[in-house]
Amino acid sequence: MPYPVDLHSHTTASDGLYTPTQVVERAAQRGVQVLAISDHDTIDGLAEAQTVGQRLGIEIIPAIEFSTRIEQAKHFIGTHLLGYFINPTSPILQETIAKVKQGRIDQKTKQIELLQSFGFDIPVAEVFATADGVPGRPHIAAILMERNPGKFATIQQIFDEYLAVGKKAHTVRQFVLTVGEAIALVKQSGGVPVLAHPAAYGSNVDPIVAVQNAHAEGAAGVEVFYPYQLRQRNSDDWIPRIEQVAAELNLLKTGGTDFHGRPNEKVDLGDMGLTHHQFATFKQSWQ
Ligand SMILES: [Zn+2]
Ligand SMILES: [Zn+2]
Repeated sequence: MPYPVDLHSHTTASDGLYTPTQVVERAAQRGVQVLAISDHDTIDGLAEAQTVGQRLGIEIIPAIEFSTRIEQAKHFIGTHLLGYFINPTSPILQETIAKVKQGRIDQKTKQIELLQSFGFDIPVAEVFATADGVPGRPHIAAILMERNPGKFATIQQIFDEYLAVGKKAHTVRQFVLTVGEAIALVKQSGGVPVLAHPAAYGSNVDPIVAVQNAHAEGAAGVEVFYPYQLRQRNSDDWIPRIEQVAAELNLLKTGGTDFHGRPNEKVDLGDMGLTHHQFATFKQSWQ
């Protein structure tokens, strides 16, 4: 029996494979009654999801998942900061999202131009045409593979040699929020800032220290219930430990599947999440 509340999902507005309509329809089929659309650095999928949600009687929670700048000393490495109940019409939110988006466009353009400088056939416009929003590295790798036959055996090889962090065609984004800035922005936009999946950031990050530091920076909650094992990000043993530290710090608890709709994904909408009672407690804190 799936959880009735899933507070973490992605659509084609970021790196999900299902359109907002398809995600909400699938949630309905699965028996999910409350669904947060939490795309990376964008709220473009929200309006469509809300329209479908209204038709199907599913409560859609407006959300976003910000990528943040690396702060090694604070154990923020590739940290994701979730914002729930944000007001999509907030001017400061819209302005910042636009800046983040432009930063991504500049970064991806530079990466493609670097690949061109190594002699590969890869037109910028073609890569951008394959993505709904801003293309990611998988879009770049797919076109690179397609237009340069015989040069690469696998997509992984392209990442290992060119696109992974620190490799020949990787560039960093110029505009990225710190965790503290993302938390402040979510609050300014009327939302509740929540540290995403603290045990999914790799061996250089102590999940407990990351939670403590996010709390110190003003986070109101932490994503406790996360399918670490099914997503092959860590072991689920972390869930009770993170729940414990959340209780100690008086942090709100959220949960969800991080659904992307990928064919090999072992987790479906509602496989992880909150009970109605847990969700009521979370929502109360905001209202
Ligand atoms: Zn994430
Ligand atoms: Zn996510």
